[in-house]
Amino acid sequence: MDIIGHLINGNHSLDAERTQDVFNPATGEVAKKVAIASRATVEEAIAAAQAAYPAWRDTPPLKRARVMFNYKTLLEKHADKICELIGAEHGKICHDAAGELQRGIENVEYACGAPELLKGEYSKNVGPNIDSWSEFQPLGVVAGITPFNFPAMVPLWMFPMAIVCGNTFVLKPSERDPSTSLFIAELLYEAGLPAGVFNVVNGDKVAVDTLLEDKRVKAVSFVGSTPIAEYIYSKASANGKRCQALGGAKNHAIVMPDADMDNVVSQLLGAAFGSSGERCMALSVAVAVGKAAGDALVNKMADAMKPLKVGEFSDKSNDFGPVITKEHKDKVVGFIDSAESQGATVVVDGRNPKVSGYENGFFVGATLIDGVTKEMDSYQQEIFGPVLQVVRVDTMEEAMTLINDHEYGNGTCIFTRDGEAARYFSDYIEVGMVGINVPLPVPVAYHSFGGWKRSLFGDLHAYGPDAVRFYTKRKTITQRWPSAGVREGKSFSFPS
Ligand code: NAD
Repeated sequence: MDIIGHLINGNHSLDAERTQDVFNPATGEVAKKVAIASRATVEEAIAAAQAAYPAWRDTPPLKRARVMFNYKTLLEKHADKICELIGAEHGKICHDAAGELQRGIENVEYACGAPELLKGEYSKNVGPNIDSWSEFQPLGVVAGITPFNFPAMVPLWMFPMAIVCGNTFVLKPSERDPSTSLFIAELLYEAGLPAGVFNVVNGDKVAVDTLLEDKRVKAVSFVGSTPIAEYIYSKASANGKRCQALGGAKNHAIVMPDADMDNVVSQLLGAAFGSSGERCMALSVAVAVGKAAGDALVNKMADAMKPLKVGEFSDKSNDFGPVITKEHKDKVVGFIDSAESQGATVVVDGRNPKVSGYENGFFVGATLIDGVTKEMDSYQQEIFGPVLQVVRVDTMEEAMTLINDHEYGNGTCIFTRDGEAARYFSDYIEVGMVGINVPLPVPVAYHSFGGWKRSLFGDLHAYGPDAVRFYTKRKTITQRWPSAGVREGKSFSFPS
């Protein structure tokens, strides 16, 4: 059986002392194994990145950006293969994988603007014959730790920007779907990257802790669940590293009484069930304002869900695929059970979908639950499955209080035709990414991505302009070249 290894200093390497199974989630079978890096292997990757840093730091940004121009072309050329790797290990349908890859490539396109993005700030004559400027210098070796649900896109949120800013990088992808990261790393070398600038180590907590403890690693970008994000942020900060750690979510959509309900339903279908709900921006809670809106939403949604098809990734007619593991399937089903036993109504039940030919796959069908309340476990916790819960309230204020009181604050949306309500909502909602009649308000690559509250630990969001700040440190230089006749005498106070 294939063992997926690491890519260190531009070379494939394997330490197979410890391995872990990688499943095909559609069949439930073990398809491959992944090497779980030891501390020594991770240290080797850090050393390779450290050795590559001085030359890469001094490579002009224009030349660094040229590697990214080549890289974009290669990612596009190999898109089918990348989508197949994603589908085989993650399970998402090929059209969805293509969308993920496209969003990732948009970050490479943004990184191509490095010379412009790193220009810095200049002020002439801040004092007599004195000029001052700020420049943005790279940090050194930086690390990325990524989740299973976007094996191409989330790593691409991180390393293209980190690398064009002049840093070298060690990526620790999810051990549950590791092949995509290795393949896109190979393409980056084919694009012309010097050895050691980008390294991939597969592994678990041992690899992560090594990255968090090693003094040579100057910054850590993390995306994953909230408990791990909090752990990473505290440990990285305690070890003096810069850290941004993006966590889990519970994204609500407010459905106002004046909303176009047919549009709401068609928007919510993809936002709730696309990628089996395994998206940190998945819309998992619809908050209906008023009885009429709630009844219309539930009835129309239940009808619209009937034709949805769950199945294997290569069949384009499927709407979404399996969830990632058997344990995760059990967890999702457990949340549906608990909502039911705590008093909610399962209107459309996806607990036992029949997927012909894939009886052992980790499938959960699209599920709709009505009458959910804020006390229920299924409301409080992230389900990360194809489950849409409906909470009913009487007023928009009540709906906003519900959202603002939730521990997560990643994304949210309001469906309405009332501009005044929408503006009030976007002004006062305690969430980082807000949609107005847009159910998945994922910022484009030239903005930045991040939630509020316990959906993000740290100050700067991922990718876009915030990434330039995260992956560089500001240095401000003040310069005077004294010439004969303008020399100043000594001074013991600030000039006034
Ligand atoms: P996860 O937290 O289990 O794993 C993420 C990474 O952390 C993996 O690389 C994993 O190997 C590592 N890890 C896991 N346990 C660890 C431990 N005890 N110590 C050190 N490292 C550990 O997350 P996941 O299940 O892969 O991904 C799903 C989660 O990610 C969801 O909660 C989802 O909302 C979140 N997510 C958030 C965003 C965002 O932008 N906010 C984006 C995508 C996914």
